[in-house]
Amino acid sequence: MPSHSTDQPIPASGRRLCGSRFFIHTFGCQMNKNDSEHMAGLLLGAGAEEVPSAEDSDIILINTCAVRSKSVNKVYSLLGRLKRIKQASQGVQIAVTGCVAQLHRDEIQQRYPYVDLIVGPDNYPALPEMLGKSRLRPQTATAWHSGWQEIRTGYRAKGISGFVTIMEGCNNFCSYCVVPFTRGREKFRPASQILEETQELAAKGYREVQLLGQNVNVYRDPDQGSGFPALLRELGRVRGIAWIRFITSHPRDFSHELARAMKEVPQVCHQLHLPIQAGSDDVLRAMNRGYTRSEYLERIDMLRSLMPDIALSTDIIVGFPGESGQDFEDTLRVLAEVRFANIFSFHYSPRPRTASARTLPDSVPREEKKRRLMLVQSLQKQIQLEMHRALKGRSLEVLCMGPSKKDGSVYTGRNAANQVVNFSAPRDPTGTFVRVEITGYGPYSLKGKLDP
Ligand code: SF4
Repeated sequence: MPSHSTDQPIPASGRRLCGSRFFIHTFGCQMNKNDSEHMAGLLLGAGAEEVPSAEDSDIILINTCAVRSKSVNKVYSLLGRLKRIKQASQGVQIAVTGCVAQLHRDEIQQRYPYVDLIVGPDNYPALPEMLGKSRLRPQTATAWHSGWQEIRTGYRAKGISGFVTIMEGCNNFCSYCVVPFTRGREKFRPASQILEETQELAAKGYREVQLLGQNVNVYRDPDQGSGFPALLRELGRVRGIAWIRFITSHPRDFSHELARAMKEVPQVCHQLHLPIQAGSDDVLRAMNRGYTRSEYLERIDMLRSLMPDIALSTDIIVGFPGESGQDFEDTLRVLAEVRFANIFSFHYSPRPRTASARTLPDSVPREEKKRRLMLVQSLQKQIQLEMHRALKGRSLEVLCMGPSKKDGSVYTGRNAANQVVNFSAPRDPTGTFVRVEITGYGPYSLKGKLDP
């Protein structure tokens, strides 16, 4: 079944893809998922129909992620497999969008000449028109535009929790990160558009919004000049939206004023993803992160003094060039000290055009990176088990997202701390807030039953 509602009128001017069937394969982060939804809206608005598999479609759109070499390889492997579909039917159009399109345009053209369309993240509004043109010859669009490119199609997947992009791009140039080259420099969406989209979601029955941006802390409304704390306060007034989350925050830009807004706006969940990346000052400096370990820990203290119940998560990179055994121990110590509710951990891989790839030898051997990653993950697993054990017997408020994909007799949801809670219930509570008594746990989720 197509996942997008089509209860909106299709603009008469935009029916250039009438009769076409499209399928979108999305790799990567929440922002990519949100972009895919906008692209689906653009194609639906142009008269195309969404279908559930590439085999059933005549437009295959691959929305890509370039953040790690592994994610790029997955895209290339999929493109290799799609050659068969293209050979069987020349009428099928293949479009590559997103960060790999932006970063590896020339390589895609050379290695996969059957790709019809290559579109970078700043060019999605042109997608329907380009798909029309690419029937005649291949098209590419990877230029940057100054200012925010608003995409409002009126189409949204039906849901409970919705993404709302508030800014895009990054000016920080962390030495390992490809984002400034794939998403460009910071651009901020007008607060009026953010507010309207949030109101639309609320009107459609969404209960939670997740605000997205590479560094939401530096958000500035291009019309009024107000910052991110003011935006949170404004969004807290949207009726129907009960929970607000945001991602990603840069520790250097996380202000006391923002922490106060988190505390004072009741809808903002006491949950924060604050990537530290490494626990050693030398490594943080080489990463160009702009803060020290102790400055990071001061932010954590400040947050916990204002919101003792705050759940924190982070990103960790192990095996950065020059990371010594001692540096790595510093990272383990931070994990033990902060006790994050969740982490996303990776081993370093050099990315094209980044400063670390250009200037620093990838000095930590692959096996050692793997060993360090395993140590990080097993320490974190132990911490999460301990944190989850402490919740046994407690009653938690959970927003139910629907039946579990693994077991249809069990429902799944998240609590304010963003922990996954799987629970049994005598009736379907999808889309509602329920209280769940925690009866069991694993390292990555909690188990429970509906609290009568
Ligand atoms: S803050 Fe650093 S890691 Fe985050 S997107 Fe910007 S450059 Fe990348």
